Amino acid sequence: MSNKTAETSTSSNIVLQCPQCKKPVHWNERYPHRPFCSKRCQQLDFGEWATEQNTIAGASVMAESDDWQED
Ligand SMILES: [Zn+2]
Repeated sequence: MSNKTAETSTSSNIVLQCPQCKKPVHWNERYPHRPFCSKRCQQLDFGEWATEQNTIAGASVMAESDDWQED
């Protein structure tokens, strides 16, 4: 009876935007890397995140040593 409802939700028409390249990503099994359009975009995003973390850590160290002024 309610089988039809379940079927409909599986093939939903939800379309997202890939956070990395802004391509449309359909929320279904054709896009296993959603919300990313592809594995590449997923890895790129993770790489960016990792780089950001490193940059923040490095920047704070740099700023700290830059602030030190010997009088
Ligand atoms: Zn993408």
